Amino acid sequence: MQLKYTNKINKIRTFALSLVFIGIAIMYIGIFFKTSIFLMTAFMLIGFLATIASAVVYFWIGMLSTRAIQVVCPNCEKPTKVLGRVDACMHCKQPLTMDPELDGKEFDEKYNIKKIQKKQS
Ligand SMILES: [Zn+2]
Repeated sequence: MQLKYTNKINKIRTFALSLVFIGIAIMYIGIFFKTSIFLMTAFMLIGFLATIASAVVYFWIGMLSTRAIQVVCPNCEKPTKVLGRVDACMHCKQPLTMDPELDGKEFDEKYNIKKIQKKQS
């Protein structure tokens, strides 16, 4: 069975990258509305905002990355970053945990939600 979990930092990075392309695509669509200044401006503005948003996401991931704990993956022996209580290896998607309580338990993204953490303890 293939693990569907991906490293959070990688996931957010992919999201930021796709946001850049979406922003450019929206601005490109705006070119087709040359006849309407209003529509063209609207598309350009939305596209521009998407591009700005991706820059913000990139900045945010930079901040998160410094806070993430660097570990050596026990599976592929490459250094990876763990964000939150459970995360997956950047290289081999091996589920990793920072909590000894969760050691050996099945990987679950739910462990990162604060409410559920409280309920369990
Ligand atoms: Zn690994």
